[in-house]
Amino acid sequence: MQDKLYIDGAWKAPTRGGSFDVVNPATEEVFHRAPAGTADDIDAAVKAARAAFDTGPWPRLSGKERAAYLRAIADKVIEKKDFLARLEVKDNGKPLPEAAWDMDDVAGCFSYYAGLAEELDGEEETITLGEPRFSAKAVREPLGVVGAITPWNYPLLMVAWKVAPALAAGCTMVLKPSELTPLTALELGVIADEVGLPAGVLNIVTGTGPEAGQPLTQHPLVDKLAFTGSVPTGRKVMMAGAEDIKKVSLELGGKSPFVVFADSDIEKAVEWIMFGIFWNQGQVCSATSRVLIEAPIYDAVLARLVEEAKKIRIGNGLDDGTLLGPIVSKGQYEKILAAIEKGKAEGARVATGGARPADLNTGYYLEPTVLTDMAEDNFVWKEEIFGPVVCVKPFGDEAEAVRLANDSRFGLAAAVMSKDEARCERVARAFRAGIVWINCSQPTFVEAPWGGYKQSGIGRELGHWGLSNYLETKQITRFNSEEPWGWYIKP
Ligand code: NAD
Repeated sequence: MQDKLYIDGAWKAPTRGGSFDVVNPATEEVFHRAPAGTADDIDAAVKAARAAFDTGPWPRLSGKERAAYLRAIADKVIEKKDFLARLEVKDNGKPLPEAAWDMDDVAGCFSYYAGLAEELDGEEETITLGEPRFSAKAVREPLGVVGAITPWNYPLLMVAWKVAPALAAGCTMVLKPSELTPLTALELGVIADEVGLPAGVLNIVTGTGPEAGQPLTQHPLVDKLAFTGSVPTGRKVMMAGAEDIKKVSLELGGKSPFVVFADSDIEKAVEWIMFGIFWNQGQVCSATSRVLIEAPIYDAVLARLVEEAKKIRIGNGLDDGTLLGPIVSKGQYEKILAAIEKGKAEGARVATGGARPADLNTGYYLEPTVLTDMAEDNFVWKEEIFGPVVCVKPFGDEAEAVRLANDSRFGLAAAVMSKDEARCERVARAFRAGIVWINCSQPTFVEAPWGGYKQSGIGRELGHWGLSNYLETKQITRFNSEEPWGWYIKP
């Protein structure tokens, strides 16, 4: 485990010498102290990234050459998969099979963007102009120095979603991972070193939001901010970026609906509802945390959901058979418990869960929780809880379902289930959300765009949209005529 920052291709102790606790949420034990970077370290990292971009080889390499580095990183992630997955579990709490799946996705993300880097070579678009004396083309170029700030729910995967496309595009980067889960991000620095990534291309500074994140958002030599996290922090990032008109992309929170129509298979509905909210302890930005069930099957679905939720094996993510690990941190755990209490005080009923499992006294464990009978303005129905807590509500008809689904300041994801394909298509189009699932919830593919409507964010990650985040578009226009222009100087 690393205890230094990765700046300009070297491991450096934080300038002020600080460190912070890394806690295993399954045991509440401090098992490491991570380096606490501050404004001085951010400044050194940004200057290294700036030099690597302005005068280094990276943006000037062909896409094919950059792709070779990305593929080498993907190979290393697979080679170290078991080590990285176990580290992720200790740091974040998620069950080991989920962490292993994340590592496959991390490697897949680097491989995918290697392919897109190659496609950039020789890419140019001829533009047809309405003026025969001129010709024009559009080319895309790397945007510059990126400041990336990531959350703790998919620690290395959220890092990969930014690092892979940025590096593919030819950008250089300073990465500030979440202080709750800094360890696998630092291991990416080890991998960068091992594959011989040129110095300064990827710099990794761990530390808190205010001490390391904020100075990165304010640094004048950064061209773009790529942020994933909560809405309040996203707002600060956007405001800081406004000072220098930095490009800003934001992937923020959600309170995503899942609409289940009465013609659905009840068993399939229950399984996808569970996957939509209990996977990764519900700490998923796109979690379908508001479930709307058509009245005729409401009681049946709720009964089966409660029955299955009670069966979920809760425990240390490293134990065989665990399907629900601990919440990431004490702070987050207390926030979720407080949200449940507030929801109850405002009238919600706990159908199951809502408390610490009786046999787990240590660790930030919470039973899978199903809440019902809440009003539309109940805190738990409106606000992101970011835990294994699902709110379930009946609806009367399609129009009511769509109205309730869209009645949110968020618009990240939404899901619909029905045997009627036309209805699914109609409701999918009616959702005001950037990601819509039909007859499932959560499966995520690197090829497809990811991002939110409304307060869930700005811009799209993944797919070719994710690469465009890190590219500038330039027009090159040529005057082809031998004739003088003749505006000031008459021929
Ligand atoms: P957070 O906003 O608390 O922190 C995110 C990151 O921002 C961390 O690295 C943190 O250190 C940093 N930060 C905090 N204050 C800062 C400041 N003033 N300036 C700059 N950086 C600062 O979010 P979190 O609790 O880590 O993550 C949970 C949130 O992330 C949820 O709302 C979730 O929905 C969202 N999320 C969204 C997506 C998506 O793709 N849309 C994916 C994962 C998580």
